[in-house]
Amino acid sequence: VTVTAADLALAGRDLARECARYAAMGWMRGTSGNLSVVLSRQPLRLAVTASGKDKATMRDVDVAVVDETGQAVPLPAEDGHDEEPIPSAEAGLHARIAAVSGAGAVVHVHALAAVLAAERWPGGVPLHDLEMLKGFGRRAEGDLVVVPVVANSQDMTVLADRFAVTYDPATPALIVARHGLYVWGDDLAQTRARIECLEWLLRFVVSIPADTPRVLP
Ligand SMILES: [Zn+2]
Repeated sequence: VTVTAADLALAGRDLARECARYAAMGWMRGTSGNLSVVLSRQPLRLAVTASGKDKATMRDVDVAVVDETGQAVPLPAEDGHDEEPIPSAEAGLHARIAAVSGAGAVVHVHALAAVLAAERWPGGVPLHDLEMLKGFGRRAEGDLVVVPVVANSQDMTVLADRFAVTYDPATPALIVARHGLYVWGDDLAQTRARIECLEWLLRFVVSIPADTPRVLP
């Protein structure tokens, strides 16, 4: 047994709390977005938010367990779920990100700034010389960060392959064009810090007109 009911209960509680926070920021409209945490590495098992739920009112039991391909695996027998939750359709990409990067948590939100930035920089969104880059784990000066952009797909294997091609260990984020943003980290707290700072950075670059002169005193 790799996943216990206690592990899952703890993950469900943490995921519900994080979902409420991101929903309050307007990043999980409708039932969009999904979060996951790694429960075990060998074999890879993730707790992922259940599909089709309002992220503002997630319950601790609105969580599914998936394998390295994003397929649901049975919940622990002693678990108190009233129904078998359906994992998010995007669980396959979460699993690939966790496998490739070694991340312990993956957050996916439909933040508008990320989608707008990908529209303007389809080859990757460049960020540099901004204080908030420190919150993303990079340097505030002299560090060019390019957030990869990949085309959207309804096939998670295709999307996961596109992620793997663009993967850069120094940049724990991916924008799926006309869709949303993925950010990952060691745990939910680190991932939260990264995604909140990155969303601010993306909002900044899409908010200033391209021809704004940068003449500083
Ligand atoms: Zn999505």
